[in-house]
Amino acid sequence: VSNIITIVGGGLAGLTLGILLRKQNHRVTIYEAGNYPRHRVCGEFLNGAGAVLLQQIMAQATTPVPVTGSGAAVAFFNSNRRLIKVQLPNPGLIISRWDFDAFLAAEFQALGGELLSGVRWRGNEGSEGIVFATGRTIDRSEKGFRFLGIKVHLKLQMDLDLEMHFRKNGYVGLTKLPGGFANLCGLFKFDRPVPGLKAGYRSFLAGETGSVLWNRLRDAAWLEESFWFCVRFSFGSGSVWANRLSLGDSFEMIPPFTGNGMSLALEMAFATEPWITRFAEGKISWTEVVRQANRDLVRLTRWRMISARLIQTFLLRASERPMLFRFLEIPGVWRRLYGLTR
Ligand SMILES: Cc1cc2nc3c(=O)[nH]c(=O)nc-3n(C[C@H](O)[C@H](O)[C@H](O)COP(=O)(O)OP(=O)(O)OC[C@H]3O[C@@H](n4cnc5c(N)ncnc54)[C@H](O)[C@@H]3O)c2cc1C
Repeated sequence: VSNIITIVGGGLAGLTLGILLRKQNHRVTIYEAGNYPRHRVCGEFLNGAGAVLLQQIMAQATTPVPVTGSGAAVAFFNSNRRLIKVQLPNPGLIISRWDFDAFLAAEFQALGGELLSGVRWRGNEGSEGIVFATGRTIDRSEKGFRFLGIKVHLKLQMDLDLEMHFRKNGYVGLTKLPGGFANLCGLFKFDRPVPGLKAGYRSFLAGETGSVLWNRLRDAAWLEESFWFCVRFSFGSGSVWANRLSLGDSFEMIPPFTGNGMSLALEMAFATEPWITRFAEGKISWTEVVRQANRDLVRLTRWRMISARLIQTFLLRASERPMLFRFLEIPGVWRRLYGLTR
């Protein structure tokens, strides 16, 4: 018996899983609502175990691999000064999502996978052999806070590899891309929609006049075609449903300041592939796959998610932020917090 696997969502989690399953020769179809290449709202800094997994995929690739940089020099700023400068224990990979998603898609197809791009899947959610890798969950509530994510590429010289600028209602990351470019990506929290965002996003992102970030962006050239944003997403909380297997952000989304969401998407694909393979080979039932894989996903993510959310709560609450910053400046604290989210 050989069971067919359907993956809904051709982002990092879905494509990575597809590649791993094709390497075992299983029949896989991926439905992707969008097309490649495409920009995504992302800091483009891949850090943690996922960076090693990606290098593994790239080392065995049959299609041209994307240009990547690597970086470990990071600094944190508030509006008027630099708080700390640190060296990451392991350098992160810097990779443009424009290239990254397209590379994985090409690799999946080169390995014989069926990729239906530009096709939104609308099947029966309860069917066997379906893996959901559909990305961020939309927050449908009309009340409470909304999250807004924005990204744009810039022509900007950077000395450090990553700068994190904390703002009143969010944070902005600047990542040094190869060739004198930079990726700017921000996450903001609001209790109502932001008017005129598309037209006024430059001044919105630069923030308070005279702040460190505002000065930093004064001479930047903005690459308008790379501007992308997403709104009204929720961070979810581990969608462990009896009959459903979800990966990546659709399982649970880690707060972006960790720079760990892409890593988790890859880690989750690697963690669940052995169970899905056993189903594809007709050795275990789909119910068993869902049970075992969900258990592994909870183990992989639980403490990282809890710690990251707690830190993000402090980061986004104006009254508590000064306390967190003072705490961050104590030697060794930053490294501890960093370790908790990995
Ligand atoms: C502001 C911000 C900054 C971030 N910065 C970083 C960072 O610096 N480093 C990092 O590691 N992570 C970062 N992340 C997180 C990272 O982008 C995500 O964790 C990662 O993209 C998750 O991959 P995924 O495959 O789960 O989802 P996605 O990459 O979102 O892919 C999901 C795909 O599913 C498709 N889809 C959805 N529904 C359907 C359907 N019904 N049929 C067909 N297709 C469908 C969508 O079109 C999409 O392509 C950031 C996120 C945000 C919001």
